[in-house]
Amino acid sequence: MSTLRETEIRPHDLMAGQRAAQEADIAWLLERKSSFVAVPCPACAADEGTPALEKDGFSYARCPQCRTMYMTPRPSPDVLVEFYATSRNYAYWNEHIFPASEEARREKIFRPRAERVAGFVERYGTGTRALVEVGAGFGTFCEEISARGLFRRVVGIEPTPDLAETCRQRGIEVIDRPIEEVNLPGGIADVVASFETIEHLFSPREFVQRCAELLAPGGLLVLTCPNGLGFDVLVLGARSSAVDNEHLNYFNPESLAQVVRKCGLEVLEVSTPGKLDAELVRKQALDGEIDLETQPFLRRVLLDDWERVGAPFQQFLADNLLSSHMWLVACRGN
Ligand SMILES: [Zn+2]
Repeated sequence: MSTLRETEIRPHDLMAGQRAAQEADIAWLLERKSSFVAVPCPACAADEGTPALEKDGFSYARCPQCRTMYMTPRPSPDVLVEFYATSRNYAYWNEHIFPASEEARREKIFRPRAERVAGFVERYGTGTRALVEVGAGFGTFCEEISARGLFRRVVGIEPTPDLAETCRQRGIEVIDRPIEEVNLPGGIADVVASFETIEHLFSPREFVQRCAELLAPGGLLVLTCPNGLGFDVLVLGARSSAVDNEHLNYFNPESLAQVVRKCGLEVLEVSTPGKLDAELVRKQALDGEIDLETQPFLRRVLLDDWERVGAPFQQFLADNLLSSHMWLVACRGN
C-alpha cells in the first residue's frame, strides 16, 4: 500500500500564502460577528452545549448528549453564501494549491476514494444508473469515477462559480447551484456522494435530507468528514488543523449516524480509514508546538519508538473508529 504524506497534498512552500489568505477570511468573518447565530447541537438538537474550544476568535461547544463539537454562534446562512463566493482561501487553493498538488491528490486521495465507492456499489449490489457528487470542487473525483465506467451518468453539484467552471472544462456534467436549489427529480441517484462538505454547512440535517431525497430506492449515501472524537482532534484541540473557521460541525461516528437515520436512511457502515493522525501530532511535537514531556506514552509512540510503532499505531486508530477522518455509508430502503 502506498503511503500518504502530508507534504504531498499540502505543498510546504505554498502554505504561507494559504495562511495569509485564511487570515483574510477570518478577519472577513469576524467583521460580521454581530450577525452570527447561536445554534443547538447540529446532530441531536440538544440545547445545552458546553464550551469546548476557542480558536481565531470563534467559539466551539461540545454537545453533552451526542458529543458532537460545533461552532456556536456561527455565521448565518446568508453570510456563508457570501463567504464561499468571495473566500480568499478558496481562491488560493483553486489557483495555487490544487494545481500544484493535483496529481498527488489524484493518486493518493481521489483514485482510492473512487475505488472505495466502487467497492460499496459492488458490496451492496447498488444500481449504476447515476451518481451525484454534492460539492464536486475541482472535479477530480467525478473524473476518476467516470473513468471507471461504472455509472451511466455522473453529475457534479458545485455552487462555487470558479470551481463549477473548472468541472465544466473537464467535461463533467455540473450543476452550479447549492443543493437546496437544484431541481433534479427525486429518486434520480443510485449513489449520492459528498466528501468533506457537511462540516461546512449551517444546517447539516437539511443537507442530508436533500441528499436522501435524491436517492433511488436501494440507493447509497456516502459521506466523509472529520471525526470530532478522533485522535488528532482530541490530542491537539484548537491546534488541530481540522479545527478551523470553515468547519462548523465536528460529528463523530455515532452522531453522524444519528443524523442520517433521522433522515430515514439505514446506516450500513461507519469507518475511520484516516492515515494522518499520528503524523500530524508527531509533526507538531517535532516542531516544538506541543510538548510531550507531560505525555510520556505519546512521546514514546510518536517520537522514541516511531519507526517501530508509528504505522501500526495509526492502523489501530483507523481500525477502531479513532482516526479523525470518517466515512459513512447509508442506504435508502426499497
Ligand atoms: Zn448532540
